[in-house]
Amino acid sequence: MDHSSTSFSEIREEVRKLCAKFPGEYWRKLDAERGYPTEFVQELTQSGYLGALIPEEYGGAGLPLAGAAAILETIHAEGCNGAACHAQMYIMGTILRHGSPAQKAEYLPKIATGELRLQAFGVTEPTSGTDTTALRTFARREGDTYVVNGQKVWTSRAEHSDLMLLLARTTPRDQVKKKTDGISTFIVDMRKVLDNGLTIRPIRTMMNHNSCEVFFDNMVIPADGLVGEEGRGFRYILDGMNAERLLISSECIGDAKWFTARSTAYARDRQIFGRPIGQNQGIQFPIAKAYAQMRAAELLLHEGIRKFDAGEHCGEEANMAKMMTAEAAWAAAEACVQTHGGFGFAEEYDIERKFRETRLYQVAPISTNLVLSYIAEHVLGLPRSY
Ligand SMILES: Cc1cc2nc3c(=O)[nH]c(=O)nc-3n(C[C@H](O)[C@H](O)[C@H](O)COP(=O)(O)OP(=O)(O)OC[C@H]3O[C@@H](n4cnc5c(N)ncnc54)[C@H](O)[C@@H]3O)c2cc1C
Repeated sequence: MDHSSTSFSEIREEVRKLCAKFPGEYWRKLDAERGYPTEFVQELTQSGYLGALIPEEYGGAGLPLAGAAAILETIHAEGCNGAACHAQMYIMGTILRHGSPAQKAEYLPKIATGELRLQAFGVTEPTSGTDTTALRTFARREGDTYVVNGQKVWTSRAEHSDLMLLLARTTPRDQVKKKTDGISTFIVDMRKVLDNGLTIRPIRTMMNHNSCEVFFDNMVIPADGLVGEEGRGFRYILDGMNAERLLISSECIGDAKWFTARSTAYARDRQIFGRPIGQNQGIQFPIAKAYAQMRAAELLLHEGIRKFDAGEHCGEEANMAKMMTAEAAWAAAEACVQTHGGFGFAEEYDIERKFRETRLYQVAPISTNLVLSYIAEHVLGLPRSY
């Protein structure tokens, strides 16, 4: 992808053309069989979009976050779904920021071309959930290796990734001063340990998301897979969360725009009682309200992205954007189903599928309550509630 002469509006146009090759029928079929959008991901990879954030010296496009956000927003506004591969864009940020020169040289160029897929992020566990520092997966150092035991849940795309970024304890929680200490980050080459210490089991979910349970049973990995210093991995992961939240927010804005485009088109066309249903305020107002919500959330998101790209603190904006864009997408989805009446439930309209897909973003990658806790504690100075 040559972006030197390409503004984001041109990137958006190119992404739109790519998405036009993957219409509703493509996604509907995959949804029914819970299939992976291999062809779509291949096209995005070959066009260089998934390497958008990798610096040019490592073979990526070297775009700012705003460029990656434009790509993901467009994918969703066109009715496609970036969830199958969006993590290929941002998980590598941990290696870029904290990896050794050897790790960067080994992985980043191959991630940029798509030769290596790094799109599995093993953080959440069944017993710790949102309380990440309570995770139990343990990596024990043995000579030149670590031996990993434990379990992750909701490790999305694990079946469609070569590498996993894994968060595991390397010092028990009761032996560290701060509970955020003693957690380390590893790059795991899953191809080398699959069915040899690593077991992956897909979870069937409300929508087609390719999320999995992952089990580690004396899984042996080379010690040089450790990213940065042992025991500091929790901080490394936190560093990447603002980028993830801002990018997922962009997808939510894309979803909201898709729903609203569908709602307005249908409301103009559908004639009931001898006039378009869109002439009724009862139909117009929920669509208009969701649109206003989306625009407000979009402004906040753009402010977060601007701060991120300027190297400024953006935790407040990234968290608030995540909550408000997810809610705006949901409001637009609700209005869209209501506008379509019974047809909102028919698979061939794609609305019920997008409705299921967009619901996720109020829960993952961070749930609304935790965003509110962040605002209360870190922005408003209220006591920590948990
Ligand atoms: C489809 C899907 C894909 C995912 N992909 C990944 C992935 O790739 N990698 C990964 O590591 N994780 C992934 N996740 C996990 C996701 O990040 C978590 O589901 C989410 O963070 C919530 O954790 P939990 O499900 O354990 O809920 P819990 O922590 O059990 O929380 C349940 C509810 O209680 C609320 N709650 C908990 N504590 C508090 C509190 N102190 N105050 C107020 N409310 C509270 C939460 O907000 C939530 O609504 C995915 C999840 C899903 C569903």
